Amino acid sequence: MTRPTRVRIDQAALRSNYLYARGAHGGRALAVLKANAYGHGALACARSLASTVDGFAVAFLDEAFVLREGGVRNPILVLEGCFNAAEIKLAHELDLWLVVHQQEQIRLLQESSVAAKFNVWLKIDTGMSRAGFRANEAAAAYQQLMSTGKVSSITLMTHFARADEVNEPMTAQQIEAFDAATSTLKGERSLCNSAGLLAWPNARRDWGRPGLMLYGVTTHGRDVPELQPVMTFESNVFATRTLEAGESLGYGASFVAQRRTRVGLVCAGYADGYPQTAPTGTQIAVDGSKTKLIGRVSMDMLTVDLTELPDADVGSNVELWGANVPVAAVARASNRSPYELLCSVKRAPLVHLNAEEEHRRPALRLATK
Ligand SMILES: *Cc1c(COP(=O)(O)O)cnc(C)c1O
Repeated sequence: MTRPTRVRIDQAALRSNYLYARGAHGGRALAVLKANAYGHGALACARSLASTVDGFAVAFLDEAFVLREGGVRNPILVLEGCFNAAEIKLAHELDLWLVVHQQEQIRLLQESSVAAKFNVWLKIDTGMSRAGFRANEAAAAYQQLMSTGKVSSITLMTHFARADEVNEPMTAQQIEAFDAATSTLKGERSLCNSAGLLAWPNARRDWGRPGLMLYGVTTHGRDVPELQPVMTFESNVFATRTLEAGESLGYGASFVAQRRTRVGLVCAGYADGYPQTAPTGTQIAVDGSKTKLIGRVSMDMLTVDLTELPDADVGSNVELWGANVPVAAVARASNRSPYELLCSVKRAPLVHLNAEEEHRRPALRLATK
């Protein structure tokens, strides 16, 4: 017997969310699967999306490697590009698309012994001030890239700093800065992450790059009923006990019963990725009914209030987040972001539902020299 804690991933919901994202954006869309598909299992998600998507994006080359080894043949864009000459070579062998965001990466291409032409995405910094060429360097970087002889096409991209804040002018300024910096440059364009795609229609161009929304989560403060949660993080009640008024519960004795309180013990804790900062009162669902977390979250267990749920008992299903309890609500209560919570899930097994098994392909044999 294994403990009942598991992370259910609804692949049909993921495909549906992707189609919604692409439809809302128009044009084409790369499904962003970095950080193990935001905790959802990158290879399983890629296989399930393979026949639906225009391509994938990951942060690093080793994430792309895992997908190629698993037989994924779709275009894959590496969002941080290559770090050294060996990665350029591997990127060619794996047939990857590369972001180029700094001079060093142009030099790597220039000096590479690889006789190949890459599909390059030139990243322009329009205000994020993280990675990317400054707007006034964009045209020069473009010409330099072309003159390397290692480039088959250039897509122009930028990334938004505050797209989820719909009343802030910064995104409009970034769009304007991007258009000004690229007005003389040929190539397709890509501006939008999820919040950009949902909240800033005039940022929609040739390619969207949705991540978080694929997993059914939004951050721009508006509900999008078409998006379905993909991850259900769940466990069971494995014991119950009743506290008398005045008795305390758990580490730090942070919860003190104000009345007779029936407590359910749940075998999931912060070692599974449930936030330790979730306070008493955080939403949780037992057998589909909403109740609340009480007491401090432990490493391997947490405690829920069953006082109003007389039918709940040992074996009752507990949803930590999913369709009844939005991960965004748990994140808000815990002072964390939904991105962080989703990527932090660990130890509990991922169980994939509605996977399109027929799209599994044999593993790619990589030439190793
Ligand atoms: C992570 C990332 C995305 C996806 O962002 P979401 O907010 O999850 O949609 C898009 N583009 C780039 C460059 C990224 O790094």
